Amino acid sequence: MSITFESELLGGSFGVIVHGGAGDVPDDRLPRHLEGCRAAAVAAREILVTSGTALDAVQAAVRVLEDDPVFNAGTGACLTSDATLELDAAIMDGSSLAFGGICALGPFKNPIAIARAVLNEAEHVLYAGAGADAFARAHGFEPVAPESLITEAARKKLASALAAGRPASFAGGTVGAVARDRSGAVAAATSTGGMSGKRPGRVGDSPIPGAGTYADSRGGAASATGHGEGILRVTLTAELVHALRSGVAVGSAARAAIELLSDRTGMTGGVIAVDARGRLGLARSTRTMSWAAEWDGGSDAGS
Ligand code: ASP
Repeated sequence: MSITFESELLGGSFGVIVHGGAGDVPDDRLPRHLEGCRAAAVAAREILVTSGTALDAVQAAVRVLEDDPVFNAGTGACLTSDATLELDAAIMDGSSLAFGGICALGPFKNPIAIARAVLNEAEHVLYAGAGADAFARAHGFEPVAPESLITEAARKKLASALAAGRPASFAGGTVGAVARDRSGAVAAATSTGGMSGKRPGRVGDSPIPGAGTYADSRGGAASATGHGEGILRVTLTAELVHALRSGVAVGSAARAAIELLSDRTGMTGGVIAVDARGRLGLARSTRTMSWAAEWDGGSDAGS
């Protein structure tokens, strides 16, 4: 399996890159995915340009994508085999290595805000299932009616996964963001409904440190998407950030991480990354992965 796309962008004193999920989005729907990614990157830019933190910027970007029903996170998240929502999200601050994650969370509108509350509280790193719901409630988040988050497209994807007798290898549309701010700090955030037709209780790579999400200001930050069972087993973002710490260029590090996923597990996916100098990179082995980037000197987007 080959890398179908790899890129490195210049970046600068600040920069952000977001993704809207590795997958195979039909060409006629790609403009809508790109539009969503661009809006998320601009939301992050507005924070970075006024010397806000990378952590706030990645949270803002992911929130925009969670609220966009096109993506598999928050509104529009895909469903378990029981037609329920079990949401995974995580956020990491590369300067302190503080991490907040929730997994198999119930119907809350913005899982990334709850992950941020976990990070801020700094008591534990990861909450699951009923405990994640209880943490959210205790911190002022109210669950919403599941119907307000479940889209027709998510129901259709579940129906085809159930008809095929197995979960879709991954749903596409997971969202993530990585950024570097003017102080030199980096951060990463990822949010997803996981796979259509996953078994209840299944947790993917997104909320696990070093699998779907990782940040260390001494190296850089990364957010992965794709077949979570493979990303977990190769600790994809930990490997990528380790390469950045050793001085590998960000585009090459992203490519190597996706090659590792393919070589060791035969699975596909994509990743976005930023290095400690603010250079942005991405790689994917899937046909599509919409993305958008903003930095002090420019912007770019693709799919
Ligand atoms: N990696 C996600 C998961 O396995 C799915 C995706 O990126 O589309 O939960």
